[in-house]
Amino acid sequence: MTIESINPATGEKLEAHAEMPRAAVDDIIGKTHEAFLAWRGTSFEQRAQHLREAAKILRAKSDTWGRLMAREMGKPLRDGIAEAQKCAACCEFFADNAARLLAREPADTEARTSFVTFNPLGVVLAVMPWNFPFWQVFRFAAPALMAGNAAVLKHASNVPGCALAIEQILREAGMPEHLFRTLLIGNAQVDAAIGHPLVRAVTLTGSGPAGSAVARKAGEMLKKTVLELGGSDPYLVLEDADLDLAASVCTKGRLVNGGQSCIAAKRFIVVEPVRREFEQRFVQKMKAARQGDPLDMATEIGPLARHDLRDALHRQVEQSVQRGARCLLGGQVPEGPGAYYPPTVLTDVAKGMPAYDEELFGPVAAVIPVRGEQEAIAVANDSSFGLGAAVITRDLARAERIAAESIEAGCVFVNEAVRSDPRLPFGGVKDSGYGRELSGYGIKEFVNIKTVWVA
Ligand code: NDP
Repeated sequence: MTIESINPATGEKLEAHAEMPRAAVDDIIGKTHEAFLAWRGTSFEQRAQHLREAAKILRAKSDTWGRLMAREMGKPLRDGIAEAQKCAACCEFFADNAARLLAREPADTEARTSFVTFNPLGVVLAVMPWNFPFWQVFRFAAPALMAGNAAVLKHASNVPGCALAIEQILREAGMPEHLFRTLLIGNAQVDAAIGHPLVRAVTLTGSGPAGSAVARKAGEMLKKTVLELGGSDPYLVLEDADLDLAASVCTKGRLVNGGQSCIAAKRFIVVEPVRREFEQRFVQKMKAARQGDPLDMATEIGPLARHDLRDALHRQVEQSVQRGARCLLGGQVPEGPGAYYPPTVLTDVAKGMPAYDEELFGPVAAVIPVRGEQEAIAVANDSSFGLGAAVITRDLARAERIAAESIEAGCVFVNEAVRSDPRLPFGGVKDSGYGRELSGYGIKEFVNIKTVWVA
């Protein structure tokens, strides 16, 4: 098997790598473990210096990384540049805060001294997706490395250039050789990597089936997992919402990364009194998004990352329309090369349609009309997913109550589109996975929380 990247805007083959054989993977994991044994003895400040250096490289060459992402998976250049900069900020956040987040915690007991301390686990396997090919990796790696772990990355098979670039950035930042290595392998080799005795834990970001497969093997091998899976984030538009703001927030939330984000807005649950007016403004804004060549700085939406993903999305749209949804915008596969799909708005979406029941991983919005707040909350929670959500209303007390008490999700944003932030935990409930990334919660996922008792 070869690991190959293909430009989704043109169909051009970019690079092909022979898949690493099992023996090479075992050899790398062995060397990564050796690197871990030395790295765990370093101070937070020593580790932080390397992360700060990585941040500098990410910023200085953000245009190069942006172009690489654009070519391998179609991300608009300006978004790729922003992604590299966000990775830099994440490295700096954990460089600045890991010592505080992982400081010993004294415990009040009858012992002479008792405390909790946080030791690294060892080599962590990261199975990562193509949609934010830098961010997904740094979001895991910055805290994991600061905690004293080492890592091997199995990146998505369509972004080998990004995978190798990340390895190179961390080497250039002065990290020890082999502390962070890329495994160029297909998904069929992941089970064996999980089974390697020196791999201590696994983190996966991706689809539900990939998450189940990894969790199954990790369960058998008694290894810790963190899973960040799909989402079908509901955005509740209530009758007292500022409708211009609602249309802007919903468009931004839906079109982030061409709609290929686990925390993209996917279901727009709109109360009847404002539904028509919201739809009009929303369609206008969705229509205005500039779609085109990802290497053009003016482009806001590129192609989808692969042709098979575009075709799967179009099938979901067609089936939803067959079952009664009305298409207000888009919904047609454009002529010409590239895995493009236009911004699309479906309305009258109801249970039993793919647009209601499944994740739509592309620029397709599903408007679900409801009678009022109670029904909006019920529909928001009527999903197998529980990643993010947003509430749009002028009544902030009402919004806080709904956000804090009623929505089944890992995060709820009020009057703003959902996004991740290194200072706050990120993750989901239900089929969106378990465990948390980022913040103090994320950095503690891959540590041994150790009790020390001195009598
Ligand atoms: P996958 O979930 O299949 O891929 C994500 C990662 O998991 C890749 O590294 C992939 O490797 C790996 N993987 C896939 N299957 C297995 C397996 N059985 N065992 C171990 N590792 C595995 O995503 P797709 O690219 O196929 O996208 C399909 C759908 O997944 C999207 O339409 C979207 O709904 C969802 N998705 C969600 C993401 C998120 O951010 N939560 C990100 C990407 C996709 P390989 O590339 O070699 O197959």
